[in-house]
Amino acid sequence: MEQITDCTTWDNSNVYCSIEDPKIEETLTSISKRSSLLREPAELIANSLQELDSKAEALIPTAQKLMLDHHSISIEIYTLRTFASCLTSTDAKDEKARALLSRISKVNTELNQIATPLFVFTDKISEKHLEIFLDHKEAKDWDFQLNHGRLLSEYSLNNSEEQIISGLSVDGLHAWGNLYNSISGKLICDIDGEKLGLARASSLLRQGDRDKRIKAHKAIKEAWSVHEESSASILNAINGWRLENNTLRSKGASKELHYLDTACHQSHISRKTLDTLMETTFENRSIGHRAHKAMAKGMGIEKLGPWDILAPAPMGKGKGKIYGFKESIDLISEAFSRLTPQMGEFAQMMYKNNWIDAKETEFRSPGAYCTGFAKYREPRVFMTFDGSIGNVITLAHEIGHAYHNWVMRDMPFVKTFYAMTTAETASIFGETLVRDYLFENCKTEEDRFEITWQDAEAAGAMLCNIPARFEFEKQLVEKRKDSVIPASELKTMMGNAWNTWYGDSISETDEMYWASKLHFSISSIGFYNYPYLFGYLFSLGIYAEKDNHGDKFNELYTNILRDTGSMNAVELIKKHLGKSIEEKAFWQGSLDLVNKSVTRFEGLA
Ligand SMILES: [Zn+2]
Repeated sequence: MEQITDCTTWDNSNVYCSIEDPKIEETLTSISKRSSLLREPAELIANSLQELDSKAEALIPTAQKLMLDHHSISIEIYTLRTFASCLTSTDAKDEKARALLSRISKVNTELNQIATPLFVFTDKISEKHLEIFLDHKEAKDWDFQLNHGRLLSEYSLNNSEEQIISGLSVDGLHAWGNLYNSISGKLICDIDGEKLGLARASSLLRQGDRDKRIKAHKAIKEAWSVHEESSASILNAINGWRLENNTLRSKGASKELHYLDTACHQSHISRKTLDTLMETTFENRSIGHRAHKAMAKGMGIEKLGPWDILAPAPMGKGKGKIYGFKESIDLISEAFSRLTPQMGEFAQMMYKNNWIDAKETEFRSPGAYCTGFAKYREPRVFMTFDGSIGNVITLAHEIGHAYHNWVMRDMPFVKTFYAMTTAETASIFGETLVRDYLFENCKTEEDRFEITWQDAEAAGAMLCNIPARFEFEKQLVEKRKDSVIPASELKTMMGNAWNTWYGDSISETDEMYWASKLHFSISSIGFYNYPYLFGYLFSLGIYAEKDNHGDKFNELYTNILRDTGSMNAVELIKKHLGKSIEEKAFWQGSLDLVNKSVTRFEGLA
């Protein structure tokens, strides 16, 4: 693999100078001290929860102050947590950072346990009392958060039950997620006798040598097979926990809390939106199949294997262009500037400030993500940059996320809590800008082939891979209701889900995908799959408006981003575009654009 020498690494020294920084201990002590000061007001509220009708009004000032204090301590916690996770991302074996993370998780749980009566209070008070509560110069910013939370308030438990659940989840639910991270961070893949970490092995799936890809795929599969017992236990425990939690919450409620209700609520969309999105995609899945078939044709093979779905375009000499890191930043910046110069400058600033960590390290986490320091309102991007065009697009994706946070940096922090569905809007928007820019600047047919290859790959991923993950997870939860699911059955289920969505466009399924795809094992959130599809099509739907609004488009786009933490996605699009995402027409419009780009690729393949 090509080594890119000019990648930046993070400079987080304005936050803490290192893991040894004495300020870390001071922060932890101050968090604990400030948290314990919340006990008294929280108890006052706890004692009145049985008689809210008569007591709520008098308690409102106490509750408002408690909420603001809780928020301000949380910001300290988030900031420290980001600092520690940045360290474990670049080195999964950093024991000190891992120990710090577990201490942070403990103080965070303590804080939330103390504040639980407040959450019950804001969930259960009357509409009239909520109005008084929100009529306050700072508390008013919680308008959407509280009202949205109240949509499922009939499923909230009493104070002590909520405290017990959040207390037990540290070494219960979340311990399983942590176990997954430890296993994947230390996984060794054997490729022709060479021992590679998971991130390194995974990056081989994105390079041009097909033999290497097949070997990497097999090695990753084998490495996970060694841990299949543990991996299956993780999925069973996480999903068993969630089901039990929902059952508990459904007692005495008007109807049972469905796992997709939880997921849709978390992602700020309606069930109708999710159903419409999945149905319209299923009807259009052949676009994904066509993309795979044309990719196979371009590779000169009959069918793609699962090791080919992330492959770069096969180029004349078997190798596409390799981009330097700064070169990629310049390219992204140029592409972003065509929407607005600020967005282009932002990409350069991310580079200059060393807010991106892209240089390969030995025990590095796989994947790419964007995070941020809540206290400083500064974004950071993590990825492992190898110079491929796919990598350039990933970088654009993550900087797109960072830009989303950046345009909201002047807003109250609580108004920036957007859901994962709209989170994937700005990122995919960034990708689209870069793809279009690259296509327009192509000089040769071969260049055009390489760029549109990215379109085809994205179409295949979004219309087949992501829905297959959704399908699998749905079945996983359904079957987990009856019993524990052994690894052998998880393999069959994953195979079936791939067959449903990939059809005959692929030579075999990836039966270990339930273990190798980390998203199934994220303890804090379920169904982290359809948000990608949502973001992809949602973002295309917004991008399609670009020409209709001319000079005004950037303003419209920025306003949409800024509103993502203040309303659900249905209202967001109704407000800014006058369209309904609960109707098939919105999604079909985006799918027609995907169809167009796949047809363009077919012509070149
Ligand atoms: Zn993303």
